[in-house]
Amino acid sequence: MGLSNTIWANPAEVIRLKRPDHPVLVFAPAALQATARRFIKGFPGVVTYAVKSNPDEMVIQNLAAAGVTGFDVASPWEIDLVRRLAPGAALHYHNPVRGRDEIAHAVAAGVKTWSVDSVSELDKLIGMVPTDGCEISVRFKLPVEGAAYNFGAKFGATADVAALLLRRAAAAGYIPSLTFHPGTQCTDPMAWDTYIRAAATICAEAGVKAHRLNVGGGFPSHRQQALAPALEDIFALIDRVATEAFGADRPILVCEPGRGMVAESFSLIARVKALRDEAHVFLNDGVYGNLTEMPQIGNIDRVSVHAPDGRPRMAAPIRRVVFGPTCDSLDRLPGELPLPGDLAEGDYLVFKGMGAYSTATNTRFNGFGQCEIETALSLVG
Ligand SMILES: *Cc1c(COP(=O)(O)O)cnc(C)c1O
Repeated sequence: MGLSNTIWANPAEVIRLKRPDHPVLVFAPAALQATARRFIKGFPGVVTYAVKSNPDEMVIQNLAAAGVTGFDVASPWEIDLVRRLAPGAALHYHNPVRGRDEIAHAVAAGVKTWSVDSVSELDKLIGMVPTDGCEISVRFKLPVEGAAYNFGAKFGATADVAALLLRRAAAAGYIPSLTFHPGTQCTDPMAWDTYIRAAATICAEAGVKAHRLNVGGGFPSHRQQALAPALEDIFALIDRVATEAFGADRPILVCEPGRGMVAESFSLIARVKALRDEAHVFLNDGVYGNLTEMPQIGNIDRVSVHAPDGRPRMAAPIRRVVFGPTCDSLDRLPGELPLPGDLAEGDYLVFKGMGAYSTATNTRFNGFGQCEIETALSLVG
């Protein structure tokens, strides 16, 4: 990744003046700060950011500048990154399985909030983490639908085990809390309803009052033109259900969005390398690059096509198969994308909403994967 000093007006200007040979992610700090303010204003509790979704330094710095005071981290590298860029921020070490070397690193870095989902890992923490002012959040899972895929497949204790862990963490002298993740790109707000009520039941069974309840990430980003997610509706539901479920024992709420925070602040510019026999589109970016997620959670259909002079192509759409640049036949977008009929070799596709899980999972497979990040005032046009 390289960074230039130019601040562009918008992606079309990057195309017109730079005609990039490699994929470019265009970052609009103003868009990121606007989303951060939307979360801080609307969410009924503490807003943190899940670093894994996009660990770019500009992202961390802009979030800190916008008032985000906590970060969900999963590794020593992420801990050190946030310590360096936002020294005063709280670190929530919410990867529930850690090596002893990683725990020691986090203790030395002053981590005060940890998640667990098993007895063995709680015992590790009890042996290594001082209790004073330290919070242990028990991560639980439910068989709930609504997200793009199942986050309970890897992490999360069942409700029974969660009650046991909560009691044990409290008895060991830690501040007891609960946490869950409804699954990424969770477009059904009822998932939060079910999880929050289950959290209250776990507390009642454990006989422990949770200090905080972290309602996870999972906040959806805008992937389908027709379906702009209503974050404020989800916030209102979480607020209402937390009061209904916990009454006077309502814990402090925390959220840790990754995708919902960062996706909208980046657009991806990819060039049409070839229009093979007037049928298949070959891009210079694909599923081993910034488009990793498309086969897993579906295409983003918020795509515009621009001629090399930056002007948008406007002809009636034709559905086309779109391949990435590598020689692997898995390297294609699912289904077909409706693209303007006048699309030509050398044109550029601009995908909106590309800030999450793009830079973070870009590989160098087959010698591709070079990508620049450019900064723009706006992502419109
Ligand atoms: C990945 C992750 C998140 C962020 O998830 P999104 O779906 O991107 O919002 C939040 N919390 C934890 C513990 C995670 O692992």
